[in-house]
Amino acid sequence: MTSFNFFKIATFLLLVAALGSCQKDTQDFDLNKSYNGVETELWEYFEKFEQEAADRGVQINLSAAGITGSIEKIHTPGMVGICNHKPNTPNHVMIDIDFWRNASKMAKEMIIFHELGHCFLHRGHNDDKHDNGTCKSIMRSGQGGCMDLYNHSNRNDYLNELFH
Ligand SMILES: [Zn+2]
Repeated sequence: MTSFNFFKIATFLLLVAALGSCQKDTQDFDLNKSYNGVETELWEYFEKFEQEAADRGVQINLSAAGITGSIEKIHTPGMVGICNHKPNTPNHVMIDIDFWRNASKMAKEMIIFHELGHCFLHRGHNDDKHDNGTCKSIMRSGQGGCMDLYNHSNRNDYLNELFH
């Protein structure tokens, strides 16, 4: 009886360990770096920002630059991201939680890259548009000067523009 219980407990523990590591692998997939002062869910986008910059010959270390980030409620209507400058966190990317819950990965990437464009690249807004009315830059103001269209086929052009 004792050995049977032991066997059951051991099996249970093995199962928990297997499930635990499995879950971790899924979450950490394609994710190598961690960022102090940045909410975990933002890490993969921060790392992608550094990778896309590196692919274009620009070396970026967001941690060393002290860029922080969080996902929380932004109370300004229509605003889904902010680059905040507070004394303790002078370059803080804040993403609205309601936007975060509903947005696609592409939309999240565009907003985070836009805010890092402010916080890290120190870029201002640019509402230049193509003939069809779409924005030439993800640094558009979002005030209706041009139309957002960030997708898999034009992502590369937008990132070239961002890190040019
Ligand atoms: Zn902006």
